Amino acid sequence: MPDTSLPNSWDARAKAHSFFGFTDLPSIAERGTVVLTHGEGPYVVDTDGTRYLDANSGLWNMIAGFDHPDLTAAAQAQYAAFPGYHAFFGRMSDQAVMLSEKLVEVSPFEDGKVFYTNSGSEANDTMVKMLWFLHGAEGRPQARKIITRGNAYHGVTAVSASMTAKPYNAVFGLPLPGFLHLTCPHYWREGRDGESEAEFLARLVDELEQMIATEGADTIAGFFAEPVQGAGGVIPPCDGYFDAMLPVLRRHGIPIIADEVITGFGRTGALWGCESYGFVPDAIISSKALTAGFFPMGAVILGPELSDRLQRAVDVIEEFPHGFTASGHPVGCAIALKSIDLVMNGGLLNNVNHLIPTFEAGLAKLAQHEHIGEWRGRGLMGALEAVRDKATKTPFEGHLSVSERIANTCTDHGLICRPLGQSIVLCPPFIMTDAQMEEMFDKLSRALNKVFAEVG
Ligand SMILES: *Cc1c(COP(=O)(O)O)cnc(C)c1O
Repeated sequence: MPDTSLPNSWDARAKAHSFFGFTDLPSIAERGTVVLTHGEGPYVVDTDGTRYLDANSGLWNMIAGFDHPDLTAAAQAQYAAFPGYHAFFGRMSDQAVMLSEKLVEVSPFEDGKVFYTNSGSEANDTMVKMLWFLHGAEGRPQARKIITRGNAYHGVTAVSASMTAKPYNAVFGLPLPGFLHLTCPHYWREGRDGESEAEFLARLVDELEQMIATEGADTIAGFFAEPVQGAGGVIPPCDGYFDAMLPVLRRHGIPIIADEVITGFGRTGALWGCESYGFVPDAIISSKALTAGFFPMGAVILGPELSDRLQRAVDVIEEFPHGFTASGHPVGCAIALKSIDLVMNGGLLNNVNHLIPTFEAGLAKLAQHEHIGEWRGRGLMGALEAVRDKATKTPFEGHLSVSERIANTCTDHGLICRPLGQSIVLCPPFIMTDAQMEEMFDKLSRALNKVFAEVG
């Protein structure tokens, strides 16, 4: 653990002049911060030399671990060749041109176009602005409402936070008006007593129909969904969800956007989460694993219909007045090209599929514990939800901070995993070995036993 006793410790210095996002302050007041200096494969190392197996791939993004030589080499070569450029005024780097070609090629789309940002939040904001722009140009200026689902996470900028259906956004006075949230498609938690999964799904479809009827289909700009909800607690949709919901949206001409910021590039075992669930959206939002976390970058990938419509709308105005200074950064693009190559041809996606059965078996085994209500997940993203009472799904009392205690105990044992609500989330890097997977489950299992013995 970091030494917090000295005024010039890394901990004291971190607290003195840096804000931490999404951090429980009492927790770091008590336990101290962790200041990291480097990584070794899936491990990160702090200023005291303590190694932690990072079972969350950083923030879902470091799929190739923390020191992949091919990615650093790609970055170094590109820094030497052309260390920065934008994508305005008809100029962009050769790397951006090549990455767009590659993204369209590996997308589920026949054809399409890409717009770059620096983050997933900005990519969602960009997509919303594209929809507003396009509906306006097509004579539907009233089509501005955005539909997302409860527990969705789409980012933190004012628009993407409004799409993020989490209660904590109330402290900012968000969501903005016109951001509508459907029920989270989590059958285990949201299903009513005696309601079958099929009945639950029928209720969600009905809710969507009602929402469209009440709001007016012509006022809705688009529907955004993560194929598997990530920061909401790793929530795969109930059975048949997309097959039942998407036709309703299509019937009303509402564009369907897959937010693949976590699920993109292999996380679910297929290259795209929408592939795992058998649908093709109208556009894909990408970030995180796009550069294996080696560079801040996001991308909007438009399928053929939306790119044609947007192009026609832009042609009228003669300009799309939007863009970020560093979007399409050549170093980020070069890294992304290498990362996609590693996923598809360098064995990363194969290793994901090799690891999935062990990962699922490990989660299922821990879920036998009397205080684990359910395990859920898809591919290499999984969650275990702690409960006081398994039969009634009654959660532990909030003040016990059970998931935080489990995560903190894991950290003490050299394992980083994330508490999310009452769940513990695992999202291991794609480079994990079988032995590291075993280490992860072994440490987590010991932490669960210890904490449940204290609170049970
Ligand atoms: C992380 C995340 C975002 C936001 O990405 P940032 O790069 O943090 O802005 C958006 N959507 C999903 C699904 C995410 O997981």
